[in-house]
Amino acid sequence: MGYKNQILVVDDSASLCDLISIQMQAISDIEIAFASSYAEAEDLLLQGIDYLCAVLDLNLPDAPNGEIIDLVQQYNIPSIILTGSIKSAIKNTVNSEFVIDYIVKRNPSDIKYLASTIKNIYNNQFVKVLAVDDSVSFCEYLVKLLGNLRYHIFTASNGEEALAVMNEHPDISLVITDYFMPKMDGLSLISEIRKYRKREEIAILGLSVQNDNELIVNLLKVGANDYMTKPFIVNEFYCRVLQNTNMIGFVRNINECATRDFLTSVYNRQSLFDMGELMYANAKRDSIDIAVAMIDADNFKSINDEYGHDAGDQVLVKISKTLKSQLRTSDIVARFGGEEFVCVTVIKNDDALTVFDRIRMAIEKIQIEVEGKVLEVSVSIGVTKDLSSSFNDMIKIADKGMFQAKEAGRNRVIEI
Ligand code: GH3
Ligand code: MG
Ligand code: MG
Repeated sequence: MGYKNQILVVDDSASLCDLISIQMQAISDIEIAFASSYAEAEDLLLQGIDYLCAVLDLNLPDAPNGEIIDLVQQYNIPSIILTGSIKSAIKNTVNSEFVIDYIVKRNPSDIKYLASTIKNIYNNQFVKVLAVDDSVSFCEYLVKLLGNLRYHIFTASNGEEALAVMNEHPDISLVITDYFMPKMDGLSLISEIRKYRKREEIAILGLSVQNDNELIVNLLKVGANDYMTKPFIVNEFYCRVLQNTNMIGFVRNINECATRDFLTSVYNRQSLFDMGELMYANAKRDSIDIAVAMIDADNFKSINDEYGHDAGDQVLVKISKTLKSQLRTSDIVARFGGEEFVCVTVIKNDDALTVFDRIRMAIEKIQIEVEGKVLEVSVSIGVTKDLSSSFNDMIKIADKGMFQAKEAGRNRVIEI
C-alpha cells in the first residue's frame, strides 16, 4: 500500500528546522523536505511529491503575511501552521479546510507537540473512519475533511448500509453519522451498534441540526460519544474527530499491552487461558481435532550465561516469530513462562507430530550471531490431542510430553 511518509517544512529559522529534525527522528519512517523561503517551497512543490502534510511558518522573508498557506493549498496538502502569535493564527486559519492545526512557537515543547501531531496524521492512515449521510454532497464534504486528516475512509448513505460496511470492517474506529436518513436513521444506527460494541471500542460522533437540544440528548443517551451541530467550524470538527480516534487508539493499545507478552508480543499466559478455553469448548462441541503443545528452549540458561541476557532475549523473540510464521493466524501462540511457549492449533491434514516436528526443525535453523559465533537454538516439545478432561489438563499432559522429550535427549517432539 502506498502510505505517505514525506512532509514539507517551510521555515526560515535554521535552528527551528534542526529542532524539528531531532523531534521527528523518533518517527523513523518520516522523511522531511525543508524549504527556508516561499520561493524554495515553490520549487519543491513543483516536483509533484505526494506529501503527507506540510508545516508552514506564516512569517517568511519573502512572504511575511501567511501567503505560503495559499500556495500550499493549491496542491491540496493539509498543513500545520507555525506562528508567533495566536491571534494571527486564528485569523488565518479558523475555517480553512487545509489547516489541520496551528502551533504558537514559544519553546521547544511546542515542537514536541508538533511532532506528536505529525505522528497522529501519519498513524491516521491506518485508522478506519466511516462517514454516514444520505446527502451526497455533505458526505463528500466529510470525506474531504477526513482526507485532510489522512484517515482510511469509508462511506454509507443510511444506517443499513453503515452496518453492512462495519460488518466487513470490524476494526473501524470512528463512525460519524447524520440523524435524518432513509431506511435507518442515526439514532437507530447508534443503538444497533451499541448492542455489540462499547463506547471505548468504537467511537460515534452524531451530527444534528442546530438548536435541537432534545435530539442531542437522545444521540448521547443511545450511545454517541460526542456530537456536532451542522454546519460546524472546520477546526472544531478536526479537534473532535482527532480526540475520538485518539481515545480509541489508547484503549486498543492498553488492550494490546494487557493481552500480549512485552518481549515477544505473542499472547501472554492470561490470554492463553481466555482464548484456549474457548477453542477447547468449540473443539469438544463440534468434534474438531486440536493440539496443545508445550515448547521449551533447550539449555537456555547456558545461552544466557555464555552470551548474555540480551542474546537470550533475541532467541526468545526469534522462537516466537518462528512459531507464529509456522501456524495460522487463528491458532494461539503464547508465552507460558520464561523460555516456555504454548501453542494451540487446529489439526486438519497433517497429524500433530508432523506439524510440531516441522516447527522444531524450523527453530533448529534459527541463526543468531553474537560476537562472531552462531548460537545453537533448539526446543523440546510435548504435544497432545487428548480432549477428554479440560484445557488446563491438556497443558499439563503437553508439559509431561515436553519433560519426556528433555529426558530422551532434547531437540525432539513427543506426543502423548
Ligand atoms: P532445559 O534444556 O532443561 O530446558 O534447560 P534450560 O537451561 O533451558 O532450563 P532452566 O529452567 O534451567 O533455565 C531457564 C532459563 O531461562 C533461566 C532463566 O534465567 C532464563 N530466562 C527466563 N526468562 C527469560 C527472559 O525473559 N530472558 C532471558 N534472556 N532469559 C530468561
Ligand atoms: Mg529450557
Ligand atoms: Mg523451562
